[in-house]
Amino acid sequence: HAEKETLGFQAEVKQLLQLMIHSLYSNKEIFLRELISNASDAADKLRFEAINNDALYGNDHELKIKVSFDKEAKTITISDNGIGMSRDEVISHLGTIAKSGTKEFFSRLSGDQQADAALIGQFGVGFYSGFIVADRITVETRRAGAEAGEGVRWESTGEGDYSVESIEKPGRGTDVILHLRAGEEELLSNWKLKTIIRKYSDHISLPILMQKEEWDEEKKETVLKDEFETVNQASALWARNRSEITKEQYDEFYKHVSHDFQEPLAYTHNRVEGRSEYTQLLYVPSHAPFDLWDRNKRGGIKLYVKRVFIMDDAEQLMPTYLRFIKGVIDSADLPLNVSREILQESRDVKVIREGSTKRVLGMLEELANADEQETKDKYVTFWKEFGQVLKEGIGEDATNKDRIAKLLRFASTQNESDEQTVSFADYVARMKEGQDKIYYVTADNFNAAKNSPHLEIFRKKGVEVLLLTDRVDEWMLSFLTEFEGKELTSVAKGGLDLGKLEDEAEKKEHEETETQYKDLVEKMKGALLEKAKDVRVTHRLTDSPACLVADEHELSANLVRMLKAAGQ
Ligand code: ADP
Ligand code: MG
Repeated sequence: HAEKETLGFQAEVKQLLQLMIHSLYSNKEIFLRELISNASDAADKLRFEAINNDALYGNDHELKIKVSFDKEAKTITISDNGIGMSRDEVISHLGTIAKSGTKEFFSRLSGDQQADAALIGQFGVGFYSGFIVADRITVETRRAGAEAGEGVRWESTGEGDYSVESIEKPGRGTDVILHLRAGEEELLSNWKLKTIIRKYSDHISLPILMQKEEWDEEKKETVLKDEFETVNQASALWARNRSEITKEQYDEFYKHVSHDFQEPLAYTHNRVEGRSEYTQLLYVPSHAPFDLWDRNKRGGIKLYVKRVFIMDDAEQLMPTYLRFIKGVIDSADLPLNVSREILQESRDVKVIREGSTKRVLGMLEELANADEQETKDKYVTFWKEFGQVLKEGIGEDATNKDRIAKLLRFASTQNESDEQTVSFADYVARMKEGQDKIYYVTADNFNAAKNSPHLEIFRKKGVEVLLLTDRVDEWMLSFLTEFEGKELTSVAKGGLDLGKLEDEAEKKEHEETETQYKDLVEKMKGALLEKAKDVRVTHRLTDSPACLVADEHELSANLVRMLKAAGQ
């Protein structure tokens, strides 16, 4: 249908546009980064589809992005010759928020502009950032492989609806035309746009072209020439040498691949040669995504083969417990037509996954073991955001279990705070003379753990106990029974053996008390026949009169509670 249609935005889009304009205004330059990023994604998609269908290129093989402006019309245009969009694609991609997390997005808005702005990035809504500086956006696009007459024009003022109509478009790809709001004229400058591109989009691997500018003596002003120049470095960032890349470039590249507006905590960039040849550029984000707990969520790794984009979210390249890592892996060995199914079975992929896992653990160790306070603080942030997920690795990755165990952090009776900052090594260093076990207590929440009657004897003796209250802890502990030869022992289980922590006099005293209360214990056993397996005189309490303990080989009370809650 060639006629012009007017369609309403999905309700969330309207809300989002308002929010976008308000919260991002102070950072408005990012509109260009977002639109260039889309143009670059469009080129990646075309390259990928063309692997099996070279005809899609037609006679236009050189993929590029053009940024131009028109002072009279007050427009900025971002053009690409990438994949383009069909009419249906335009409607579904530019009229709705396609990503699954829309609901969560709106439920998480806090009213704090900075926090909300950071959220926008996570939800892949970059296109709409154009409305920060434009009061009208026109998109003219033609899908690769479609005829010139099958072009589409989309237009909206970003208020309630948008129109779509068919047009003639001579070339493949997409032009995004921003009609600037009054007051944004300073953007209509060659120098200004170039500066923004170099700042935010230098890492884009396609050439970004702009018209050359020249001083005209007669007119006494700069005029644009018909000639174009490339304003970015136009080579894949990960393929460049580390020494040639600045921290800012690494950070911008992270924002491009992760759709995050915040800076990453850390990155690792390596070229691996040998049995398998690949380059990895991996980042630890500074905050958890909204869907961190969705274990089925695909990972954040983009797979390239010899610089050709193959797929997003290649989950086979990272173990599940590192699903929060973002970045790029570029393999020299995989075939270009590799599919998700092939990835699952590929030996090369296995080698890459193992190598990348080691790199990520190494990067985390560097943060954790740093001397510098600033870097140490990063590990604290990391642990707060991702610690619980990392714990899954104890059960999931037997090979690296010891390394992961060293990265764990716990709350403990040492500082009586719910902040998880104590490592096993810290604990071991503080162990009492004669202590040969690492003691812990598990509970539903920090207060329950901290106030557990089981802790009384340990407090009295000044023995530290780790306070474990995360949901994954019980599960994790079933895979972790010792640390560097020191048994992990629950203070709530079995006949508590304090080993050498008890001196002879105490032992004797305990035996005497036991004889003294023998009759009472027998009576209680009779009375509690159905309810308790055993009744014992205990020395682990100092203030409370009694407590329940689990048998050494039984599920702990906390785990039983959890299983019940889960309906088992
Ligand atoms: P994201 O890039 O995170 O998917 P955006 O809001 O930036 O979100 O873009 C929405 C969608 O619109 C893209 O996923 C893509 O399908 C489509 N799109 C945007 N710009 C272009 C373009 N230049 N060429 C082709 N498709 C585009
Ligand atoms: Mg985008």
